[in-house]
Amino acid sequence: NLGKGVTSVGNGAQGAHQKPATAARMYDYYLGGIHNFPADQEAAKAMLERSPLIRTIARYNRAYLSRAVRYLTSIGVRQFLDLGSGIPTEGNVHEIAQADIPDARVVYVDIDPEAVSESLEMLAGNQYATAIRANVREPQAILDNPQVGKLIDFSQPVGLLMVAVLHFVEDNDEAWGIVRTLRSALAPGSHLVLAHTTVDELVFDPELLKRSQEIYRRQTSTPLTPRKRSDVVPFFDGFELVEPGITWLNQWRPGPDLVDEFKDNPQMSSFYVGVGRLA
Ligand code: SAM
Repeated sequence: NLGKGVTSVGNGAQGAHQKPATAARMYDYYLGGIHNFPADQEAAKAMLERSPLIRTIARYNRAYLSRAVRYLTSIGVRQFLDLGSGIPTEGNVHEIAQADIPDARVVYVDIDPEAVSESLEMLAGNQYATAIRANVREPQAILDNPQVGKLIDFSQPVGLLMVAVLHFVEDNDEAWGIVRTLRSALAPGSHLVLAHTTVDELVFDPELLKRSQEIYRRQTSTPLTPRKRSDVVPFFDGFELVEPGITWLNQWRPGPDLVDEFKDNPQMSSFYVGVGRLA
């Protein structure tokens, strides 16, 4: 039992022999990974039927994560706490960070057992990075975790990555409170890297969105909660937004290599992103 809201899955239709779908393994499927099971594939396919852009959005989200991590290493941030890190894929945080800073510290945190075991396997022999299983909804336990304390020095700047994870926390006050708790443990010069789905300027028809949310609600233990911009802004309370502020996914410091299919309609990403600095 990893605490709040993660022990039960509300889909009685799952066969007893099948692992229920999880957000981590569905995301792995969107990205073309192999660490997913029939229930994940079924739920992910149902999502893709409703919103075929999800695959592209997932790829752009990874590209944003890379840009943000490279930005942080470029300004000297040497340690990263990646919450809701997911199943390893291309361009994992330690690969990006350690390419620039070979002894950069990275702790991956996820609630999904597959994500953690695959991460640990990938990190074998890497003394500067590890992965732990924990619930983002219990942020103090993450801060107090001895494995986190072993690698992360909270008296120095930390890159706090919360990329495509807070939309799995339903309640606004709880979600904002999670970031507040984490922020209070961070030293000046630390940064919050955020990506969050939204329903603003919806490109999906609202009925479609409702049905997509249904899939996560019924088939996983982590319902999907898109937030409007005005509910994304409070995550940055106490942080100073780094230029260009809160933007659509592909508009945050796009590199020359970003081929942006959403150039003319950036809201099609349905993701708000931003990086905030703790003064
Ligand atoms: N951060 C990675 C990225 O952006 O590429 C992965 C994002 S994936 C869409 C969301 C991840 O958040 C999944 O791996 C899922 O298991 C994890 N997650 C969802 N709810 C969580 C919770 N309460 N605690 C920890 N991880 C959680």
